[in-house]
Amino acid sequence: MHEMSLAMDMTRIIGEALGRKAPLERVNITIGPLSGISAESLRFCFTEIARMEGFGEPELVINHTEARLLCLECRTEYEVADFYQGCPECGSISRRILSGREFTVDSVEIDEDSE
Ligand SMILES: [Zn+2]
Repeated sequence: MHEMSLAMDMTRIIGEALGRKAPLERVNITIGPLSGISAESLRFCFTEIARMEGFGEPELVINHTEARLLCLECRTEYEVADFYQGCPECGSISRRILSGREFTVDSVEIDEDSE
């Protein structure tokens, strides 16, 4: 499962950033609609792996961005949450992807009480 390896990457990145393993209160991430990541599946995998790896049971807060596209027909820039939506000006689906593939770990909050 794709999300399982992403969840393992996340715990590795968090562990390196903190320099230790600590129980986490909350983890904030950003997922773009074109990243191909299933938020529900990632949430499930991350919860399992965080506990196994010694990070407690953090709440995973997922910030969903919109995709930003450039219409190649009329040069309009537009944002969509659904990739299959065409240009709002001319209806064309020929476009360049400007953003929307993000997958970032933005911040973590440590549960200080349990240390
Ligand atoms: Zn257009």
